[in-house]
Amino acid sequence: MNVLRHIDSHMDDLVSDLQTLIQQPSVSAKNEGIEECSILVQKLLKKTGVKSEILRLRKGVAPIVYGEIRSKQNSSKTLMFYNHYDVQPAEPFELWDDPPFSGTRKGNKVFGRGAADDKGELITRIKAVEAYLKTTGDVPCNIKFVIEGEEETGSMHIEEYLKKYKRKFSCDGVIWEFGYVDAQNRPIIGLGMKGLLFVELSVRESIRDAHSSLAVLIKNPAWRLIEAIKTLRDSDGTILIKDWYKEVTSLSKKDLTIIQNEPFDEQVFKKEFGIKSFVGGKKGLDAKKALAGEPTCNIAGFVSGYTGDGAKTVLPSEALVKIDFRLVPKMDPKKQVSRLKNHLKTKGFSDVNIKVFHGEAAARTDSYHPFVAQVKDAADKSFGKSILNVSNAGTGPMHPFVEILKAPCISIGSTYMFSRIHSPNEFARVDLLKKTTKCMCLIMHNLGINQ
Ligand SMILES: [Zn+2]
Repeated sequence: MNVLRHIDSHMDDLVSDLQTLIQQPSVSAKNEGIEECSILVQKLLKKTGVKSEILRLRKGVAPIVYGEIRSKQNSSKTLMFYNHYDVQPAEPFELWDDPPFSGTRKGNKVFGRGAADDKGELITRIKAVEAYLKTTGDVPCNIKFVIEGEEETGSMHIEEYLKKYKRKFSCDGVIWEFGYVDAQNRPIIGLGMKGLLFVELSVRESIRDAHSSLAVLIKNPAWRLIEAIKTLRDSDGTILIKDWYKEVTSLSKKDLTIIQNEPFDEQVFKKEFGIKSFVGGKKGLDAKKALAGEPTCNIAGFVSGYTGDGAKTVLPSEALVKIDFRLVPKMDPKKQVSRLKNHLKTKGFSDVNIKVFHGEAAARTDSYHPFVAQVKDAADKSFGKSILNVSNAGTGPMHPFVEILKAPCISIGSTYMFSRIHSPNEFARVDLLKKTTKCMCLIMHNLGINQ
């Protein structure tokens, strides 16, 4: 294919455009360079030949850079690339070997904040479209770019944008903003993400801390909170809240086959964390099934009383625990919150206060959907091999895409799993950027021929 040869011979252009993107800081957490970077991305799309505009909700919300190009011959299918132009803060600066916004290239690596997450991924999508336009003057299917600027701060407004621009964004498939490549250079094709419910439970007993000799009279809120959270979960990980699993459906036959085929080295994993066994004594397939499809109830932090050096005999006035629940498809965060509240009440813990920080539903693309096979074929051809993954164990804003656009969402990309994203010396590998750009071309091709 001419298109793929074009990518081989234009990798220097890809790298220099990536460097330009990295050199424009765009830290959403500090609102640094967000407007500037959105303009730069728009320019890049225009240079490629993609019609582009800046979409806004209102002041104070980062704009979305939208791009669109229609296919002259096959216009019945539309592929969306969802990416983000914002990055994580680069601190601590002193741990970087090169300035974080320099985009320094050393051999096969381009370093900088955003090199992989997500400017590297974004550039592969743009260059794939460019390769088609430069060699054939057309694209095999319609292309839409939705590039947001608040991903690293939680994509607070993506749902509102999707609702507002539902018709403009309509498409037949979404390529997600990230995609990992494992240590054996196999891209992981992700079909979903878990949801998340983050809450804080607290108990206040008295108006001030007391001398611990008074523990014969004054109730300790830490004990109280421990008793309450002990009722939430069994030691094997099962969540004991009534109806917690009510809507959860079991994995399909195909999902199970995918999970069976997924590589997972239990020993290497345990060694990495210095642990001897898994929750509930899980082994083999059960461990893999849990990663993809099991809800969790995790204590993220517990604070009460004195935890400094030495001894202090104190009776704390308050205790607080932060808990995160990973959710699986069909679990509605709002419903789960009311089930949690109900649970505490019926168990006699009405004195436990609940504060909800964050609720996000899970998303999963049906593994039988034809788009899955099209992406898998493209990944196998460009990387030589690939791995299907039913669901990432983590959370991302995939649910509104699946729900509002009714389109399958798949993550596939160029991010080497040890490329230090969110950390100092983040880098992108040039060989993986090249393979991913080719992969994006083949996905466009596969969607285009399957009219
Ligand atoms: Zn990130």
